[in-house]
Amino acid sequence: MKTTKISEAVVRRLPIYLRYLTHLHHMNVKTVSSQKLGDILDINPAQIRKDLAHFGEFGRKGIGYEVDYLIEKIKQILKLDQEIHVALIGVGHLGHAILNYNAYLKENMKIVAAFDVDPQKTGEVVAGTTVYHLDQLGDIIEEKAIRMAIITVPAEAAQEVADRLMQTRIKAILNFAPVNIKARDDVRVHHTDVTTELQSLSYYL
Ligand code: ATP
Repeated sequence: MKTTKISEAVVRRLPIYLRYLTHLHHMNVKTVSSQKLGDILDINPAQIRKDLAHFGEFGRKGIGYEVDYLIEKIKQILKLDQEIHVALIGVGHLGHAILNYNAYLKENMKIVAAFDVDPQKTGEVVAGTTVYHLDQLGDIIEEKAIRMAIITVPAEAAQEVADRLMQTRIKAILNFAPVNIKARDDVRVHHTDVTTELQSLSYYL
């Protein structure tokens, strides 16, 4: 497999390809053309061919892409062929909702520990996941080989939590707190803020 650096835009499209390819797999479809993928996903087929060409020549003229092979390759590229343990910090309303959603996460990804500072919440088990005190963060992350973290604490606590995460082995953080987190270059942070999403969506009304 080629190991050229993949742009963020491509990395963001790969899960979209994967979701539809998985649907095709369940429909027992064996091959798909970039044209068909493009029509369904509303992405230019030339763009799809270019994206997938990053990883070698998968497509065959006249036949298209082999669905199962492409699924396997995209999973490898996104490291979805490995089991990834996730931690969640902040077991409030949103944290609860995500822990309950845990069961629906893809089979290779699992929230294996939750953390909070509220003594009323620590020791609790939410949707099968134990809530630990934040002071145990480093130890539990090591013990459970956790590689990603989800932050669902209030805005004012988010940077402090991120700073603590950065003292551990965590290199990827999904932040739901409505604040921009500053991180070291070797730590990747993605922000998901429902309010700002709604505000920019509101422009299109
Ligand atoms: P609740 O009313 O149950 O606390 P909420 O969603 O309104 O829910 P928030 O104020 O958004 O609560 O806080 C979310 C969660 O983050 C709470 O459970 C809170 O105890 C926790 N929390 C706050 N500060 C920290 C922190 N520094 N580290 C870890 N968890 C924290």
